[in-house]
Amino acid sequence: MKYYSTNRQAPLASLADAVKKGLAPDKGLYMPERIMRLPETFFENIADMDFHETAAAVAEAFFGDDIPQADLKKIVCDTLSFDTPVVNVHDNIWSLELFHGPTLAFKDVGGRFMARMLSYFIAREGGKKKVTVLVATSGDTGSAVANGFLGVDGIDVIVLYPEGKVSEIQEKQFTTLGQNVTALEIAGNFDDCQRLVKSAFMDEGLNGLLTLTSANSINVARFLPQSFYYFHAYAQLKRAGKADNVVFCVPSGNFGNITAGLMAWRMGLPVKRFIAANNRNDVFLEYLRTGMYRPRASVQTIANAMDVGDPSNFARIMDLYGNSADAVRKDITGCRYTDEDIRNTISEVFRKYGYVLDPHGACGYQGLADNIRPEETGVFLETAHPAKFKDTVEETLGQAVEIPPKLQEFMKNEKKSVRMPNDFGSFRKYLESRAEHA
Ligand SMILES: *Cc1c(COP(=O)(O)O)cnc(C)c1O
Repeated sequence: MKYYSTNRQAPLASLADAVKKGLAPDKGLYMPERIMRLPETFFENIADMDFHETAAAVAEAFFGDDIPQADLKKIVCDTLSFDTPVVNVHDNIWSLELFHGPTLAFKDVGGRFMARMLSYFIAREGGKKKVTVLVATSGDTGSAVANGFLGVDGIDVIVLYPEGKVSEIQEKQFTTLGQNVTALEIAGNFDDCQRLVKSAFMDEGLNGLLTLTSANSINVARFLPQSFYYFHAYAQLKRAGKADNVVFCVPSGNFGNITAGLMAWRMGLPVKRFIAANNRNDVFLEYLRTGMYRPRASVQTIANAMDVGDPSNFARIMDLYGNSADAVRKDITGCRYTDEDIRNTISEVFRKYGYVLDPHGACGYQGLADNIRPEETGVFLETAHPAKFKDTVEETLGQAVEIPPKLQEFMKNEKKSVRMPNDFGSFRKYLESRAEHA
């Protein structure tokens, strides 16, 4: 299957090229040429299938032309080394817990899948050329990508993060790994890190020396696998007899996660509608209300992984809906929550139901609580473990949050990073010196 660019000014790409490039040459996002509908029998039998079987069938629909079935199944099974359970919070509101992976956030699924697929393509091409993955992070992306690629052959990972602006728990998850992962501590903010990465991609000299790629949700190999758990959630609800009128509410930042859900829907997953939950960064909600898309600088909130002022996957949503705001409105509604709303939700849900939400999941929960109808089954995506946002959650609840053993392991190890001034000249020199030693 070929991949086209949402800007339609670039040639069609093979899966391998789309994965290696990340962004299309015309700066558009790659989309699969076809979205295959899965057969009725798949949905009839889905309640009897386990996560690996369901995900393998979905992966086959997208990647089956390009990767032999057994290899693809292996990539899927290696990726999904953990479950994504659906847990009832109360009445018709359920939590799809996506935080049981190695870094306790949903990005583990896409990060691990992309690492394995990229490594597969490098090996298939003889494994001679190393690929360097550059990733700028404000916290969660860096840890999921670094852990996803850890020890994977043929790939080096360089994580750029803003000095002093990432929580200790987050920092430990990508500065303690070693092996093929290097952390660069930049004297600047997240936008500066992102600018350095973009400059590196545009620097022709550098691209002659190193094969550079990006690992954020613009990459099809990170974005499409996120559809797996929507199917798995549906299978679990069907087993519980609650699969009619399913509504997914997705806490959204770059809108990769919700777009993967929309892809699942197009593949035939029986969903009634979607809700996109925002924090104060609400350009999408404004788009739904006015039909105008006005990107702007992000504002800082306690749900910081959703602090995005110009969601990269908006282009994919426009592509899916032919640029029609009316068409989008039929399928997706929106909502927005302030930090105060988020804190109130975290404390109320804990007091009433004993369930501990993280600040992102809290937006998802509240989006359902405010909009769900009695005949619907609401599922919000709990995108991170509350312990990842320990300070906020503990302050809100007035009591300690238990740190899972996986997270405690990271905390024991010693941080190693390379400090770097915020200027492209230094970053460029650093990358050149790595190319020389490769
Ligand atoms: C990345 C992230 C989000 C936002 O996901 P998008 O795919 O960018 O919309 C939400 N919650 C958490 C915890 C995240 O890490």
